[in-house]
Order: sequence, then C-alpha cells, then structure tokens
Amino acid sequence: MEEKNAGAAPSNFIHGIIERDIEQGLYGSKVHTRFPPEPNGYLHIGHAKSICLNFTTALKYKGLCNLRFDDTNPEKENAEYTESIMEDVKWLGFAWGERLFYTSDYFEKLYGYAETLIRKGLAYVDDQSGEEIKKNRGTLTEAGKDSPFRNRSADENIQLFHEMRDGKYPDGAKVLRAKIDMSHSNITMRDPALYRIKRASHHRTGDKWRIYPMYDFAHCLSDSIEGITHSICTLEFENNRPLYDWILSSLEILMPPKQIEFARLNITHTVLSKRKLLRLVKENHVSGWDDPRMPTLSGLRRRGYTPESIRDFCERIGVAKTNSTIDIALLEHCVREDLNRRARRVMAVLEPLKVVIENYPGGKNEEIEAVNNPDDERAGTRKVPFSKEIYIERSDFMEDPPKKFFRLGPGREVRLKHAYYVKCESFTKDASGKITEIRCSYDPATRGGDSPDGRKVKGTLQWVPAAHAAPLEIRLYDHLFASPEPESGDDDFVSKLNPDSLKIITGAVGEPCLAGAEPGETFQFLRTGYFCADKDSRPGKTVFNRTAALRDSWAKISNTK
Ligand code: ATP
Ligand code: MG
Repeated sequence: MEEKNAGAAPSNFIHGIIERDIEQGLYGSKVHTRFPPEPNGYLHIGHAKSICLNFTTALKYKGLCNLRFDDTNPEKENAEYTESIMEDVKWLGFAWGERLFYTSDYFEKLYGYAETLIRKGLAYVDDQSGEEIKKNRGTLTEAGKDSPFRNRSADENIQLFHEMRDGKYPDGAKVLRAKIDMSHSNITMRDPALYRIKRASHHRTGDKWRIYPMYDFAHCLSDSIEGITHSICTLEFENNRPLYDWILSSLEILMPPKQIEFARLNITHTVLSKRKLLRLVKENHVSGWDDPRMPTLSGLRRRGYTPESIRDFCERIGVAKTNSTIDIALLEHCVREDLNRRARRVMAVLEPLKVVIENYPGGKNEEIEAVNNPDDERAGTRKVPFSKEIYIERSDFMEDPPKKFFRLGPGREVRLKHAYYVKCESFTKDASGKITEIRCSYDPATRGGDSPDGRKVKGTLQWVPAAHAAPLEIRLYDHLFASPEPESGDDDFVSKLNPDSLKIITGAVGEPCLAGAEPGETFQFLRTGYFCADKDSRPGKTVFNRTAALRDSWAKISNTK
C-alpha cells in the first residue's frame, strides 16, 4: 500500500527526547511510534492530537507508526467502533500501511509473560474480593496491607491461573496481581492487577478467553512486541510509568520502549471522553456519534470540517507537559481559514423576503455570470438566472432604517451581487404589520454590479431568483455545552448542555446549483457563513449544516492581544 502521511511535525519536547536518543544510537537510532485506541467509541478531536503527534513524529524521523487496537475490554468494544476508527484515521490523512495490530493478537504471548512472572515469584493469584483489595490498598499517607494470598507457591499460582483461564471461577472471584510492594509511595505500584476474570465474548477471539489482561500489563508488552521505541501517551499515565518499566524489566525485555507523557487536549464548551460522548448518544441528547455538534471526527466531518483544518489546529495547539484548555474559537478559526481558501461562494437567504423589480420585463430571463471564488481563479465561474422576482434576506430591509443601515429601505439604492443596482420604490405589509413584499426599480446600465456614471452604493446584498430558488433546510449550531467548562464542578455535565445548540430553518432558499449539492460539499453562503451539505438531503430539500459563521471571534481575540 502506498503510504501518504500528511505534513511533518513541528518541534516539541518529545522531539527533543527522540533526537537525543537518535544521537546516542538508542534503538539503533530508529523511531517507531503507535496510535493505540480502544475500540469502545468513535474518535474525537483529542484523539486527533495524538494521531497527528504519533504519525508526524514517525514521518519526521523517517520511522514508522502502527495503528493498534487496544481491545482488552470485550464488553465495551465492537467492530463498528473498529471500522469507524480506521475510517477516521485515514480521513485525517494518515496511513499505517501493513502495520494494523490488535492487542488481542497477543493474548497467547501475554499469557506466557504472566506465567513467567509467576514462576519468578513476581505475580500471584489473589482471592480477595475487589472491595477487599481496594480497602487494603492504603492511601497516600498510609501503607497498604499484604494480601493473605500473597505468598502462595509458584506451582499453586500457576495452577490457579490456568483454572482462571479455563473458566473455572466466576467474574471477580480471583485476580492475578504483580508482587511489588504494598507500601510503595506510588499507589499504582501496590501489587496492581495484571489479569481479571471476565467470562465475556470478545469481538475477535470469541469465547476462547475467560481472562483478559489489564491495560497496564498489555500496553507495555504490546509496545515491546511491536518494537515501539517511543510510547507517547497522555499525562494521566505518568503514575503508571514506573509500572510500565517494572513489567518490562522484570521480564528482562531488552531495549524496552520509553513511555513519554504529554498534556491531553481540552477545549472549551466541549467534553472529550468517549464514555461521556457515549452517554450523550445513548440518552439521545444528540442524534448519534456523527451529530454535527459532537467533537467526534465523524461529527466534525459532517459539520464541514476538513482534515486540513483539523491538522492545522493540532499543529497550532502544540505539545506541552502541562494541561490547559484551548478556546473553541481557535478550532473554528482554523476551519474558516481553510474553507475561505477552498469553498465556493454562493448566494442563499435564510429568511426570504420577496422583491418585485417593477421595470424589469415580465417574461425576461437572463443568466448572470458569478465568480466562484475571487481568491482562486481556477474555481471558475457559474451562471445564475435573473428575472423579475427575487428573494433577499428579510433582515436586509428596514421600513425606517437608521442612517448607517447600508442595506435596503424606502428610496434607498443597493447593489444586487453580480447583477444590478436596485432602488426600493414601495413595500406592502399584512394585517399583522409584517412586510410581505418589496417593490423596486432597477438600472439596466448597472449590469454586472457597477454604474457607468460613477454612482456609488454602500450596500451589496445577496439574492436568489424566485423562479429557480432551491429549497433549503438550514441547521444552525451553537456550542453543545452552554458552560465553557462543562466538566468542572460537581454538577452532572449533561445538565450543562446548551438547549439552543440546534436551530432548524426550514424555509431557506438558495441559488439553483445548491439543489444538487453532494453531502460533504462545502460552500460559503455570501455574508452568512460556511455551510456543508448533509446526508439528510432529499429531493426537493437540500439540507445544510452551518460549519461556522463568518465572524471570527478568534481573529478578534488574537488581534487585540
Ligand atoms: P477517552 O477518555 O476519550 O476514552 P482514552 O484515552 O480512554 O480517551 P483511547 O482510545 O485509550 O482513549 O486513546 C487512544 C490514544 O488517544 C491514547 O494514547 C490517548 O492518550 C490519546 N488521547 C485520548 N484522549 C486524548 C486527548 N483529549 N488529547 C490527546 N490525546 C488523547
Ligand atoms: Mg481509555
């Protein structure tokens, strides 16, 4: 398979470590990383940070990066998640080539390593209940208590471990624990569990195994089996590093991989935890993992985010050793910048107001040429039909406008984008006082949008031809969580959902070309924002998700800084 891995990584402290290792000839001066998701949910933007870091680091040092499914928790994992993860990594622009692995492929080997530890007197089967184990673990200030089963003979342990594997005991009846030190200052090191009984079917190994390895045991050994050199993970695992090293050195693994921790990504108004995102899906707070309000890669993709914009974001946030929270405005800024370059600019109105051009001939139909993207000549032009009746945005007309309102009002003249100058001659209202129609005159000499007599107008409005208007449904999104930090405090994060995060506009219209927009196609609707066609589109109604509004709050923040 040809491997295309997007962009090389900018420098960071991890690269500092790697460069020193290369200089000293450690690992034969090779670099081999991995991205190790658990297939228990869809990937989110936090995972994108880890994916970009692992793949671009390998690329930078001409090394390799594996994709490894850390599938040791059968009850929560399934093939749908595995598929979605592969799709998302590919979509981001990274390739693992032949190096797709599953921890479950190593179950036999891992079992053998556990036996080795037992024979060395470094692991034992404990019959204490989960409760008791927890109680006897001690606290930060108090040492733990040795288990009464801690000094079983190696032979007895081996036999019990076999029986655990063969399904002789129910879930929770026994665990295999490392024999380290119950008074260790790091609680993680107080005889941590290595294997638990779980009589659950695994989506790849079926009913073969009745015991499954714990993360700490499986992870370091999977890294070593694959020849990983630098095992990059998030800061929560800092306390587990001594255990990572203990297991590898106890098994006399040569050239053990090095675990390096970095700060996980947090974003305002967002939760980044598969467990919490799963709850939003299960409790129907969103329409699914790919709801465009979700911070999942599938949600962002459906919303209109491009892989380039997400990679750009991951590059800008950098890699640090202390946790922090990134303003969601930066993510929005990145997609705006990218779509500004690539999206076609078209015209749509969300709340249509009819305009009749009184002096325009009734049966006449023109085709007006419109530029697709003024910043990109290759994007070409398209034709927009023009005739006597058009729609403009309702908010672009005021009956009694203030002086600085440079749009339409009685007696005022504006430019219709790409078309003509029009002047408001009169308007009609219904019984409730709502404006129902505007009547204008147009100046035929201003075709294309400029006046030969040098007459200037201050406003330019987008418009849609009434006879050829494409019916649109527009979905406007706001932050999924009203609170900037939904995970802080004692309240359930679900109580902080924003009740106004989705607003659906059913009566919008757009240029005829929008009727045929393919799901995933992005546009800039002039003066309105960036929009992406949705898979819910049907004949007679094209559905668009607003990717981002035009106003860039990030550019504002960073300019005033
Ligand atoms: P979650 O809490 O969302 O389930 P996780 O860490 O349990 O995340 P994994 O599938 O185990 O999910 O993660 C795969 C990799 O992605 C790990 O190396 C993990 O450190 C990294 N990762 C997960 N969340 C983030 C984040 N918010 N920022 C950066 N990296 C992350
Ligand atoms: Mg996890």
